[in-house]
Amino acid sequence: TLSMRLERVAAHVPAGARLADIGSDHAYLPVALMHRGAIVAAVAGEVALTPFHAAQRTVRENDLEHLITVRQANGLAAIEPGDGITAISLCGMGGETIRDILDSGKTNLSGQERLILQPNGGEQPLRQWLMENGYRILSEEVLRENRFDYEIIVAERSGPVMYSAEELFFGPLQMQTRSPAFMLKWQRLLHKRQKTLTSFAQARQAVPEEKLQELTRQIRWISEMLGSQR
Ligand code: SAM
Repeated sequence: TLSMRLERVAAHVPAGARLADIGSDHAYLPVALMHRGAIVAAVAGEVALTPFHAAQRTVRENDLEHLITVRQANGLAAIEPGDGITAISLCGMGGETIRDILDSGKTNLSGQERLILQPNGGEQPLRQWLMENGYRILSEEVLRENRFDYEIIVAERSGPVMYSAEELFFGPLQMQTRSPAFMLKWQRLLHKRQKTLTSFAQARQAVPEEKLQELTRQIRWISEMLGSQR
């Protein structure tokens, strides 16, 4: 069984996909999807040796070696042209790391793949990359598990897209939907940011002006978003 987080990720993998799960660790996601008959083939990519071996072990113990290929590779280098990958999942990493993996692996993308991304923080720079590379966000989710807020971002290449600074910050669809989990996440973050601001005010050392401005801007945006009626 998958964690709720990976269960929600799994729900965004199209039926019959050929999935590349990059940073797969134990390969739990491709193995669960294959057992359910939800995908037809998978590549599990891992850069580090210990998780690479863990992925190999899970695939072997589930007798899925003929359907799931485990490769030790950096990012999208795990994908080979013959794989015919139709969906790529990148989960449980920082948003900046996911962005860097996508950016340095551009030549391994056909542009036809659905991206299912589950960043742990750093969502803004990741959305920025998606916009700059012509990916439209199709679906977004915030979920809480083990006292942690996770985000899921699903995107596909669409041609030019334009998101405002606030949309990149909050997520263009989540801003509209305003799910309970989304609102709670930002209430918690607002509280955190306000505490940081208080500690800045009490700090004996000068806080860089830029940092202060960024913090007050975020507090204003979050307060406005939470306070606005729709
Ligand atoms: N995707 C799984 C999940 O969501 O439960 C595992 C997440 S685990 C916290 C992150 C994994 O990404 C680690 O096993 C790490 O080795 C791998 N990773 C980090 N950078 C990577 C890269 N550039 N290429 C491939 N794997 C990477």
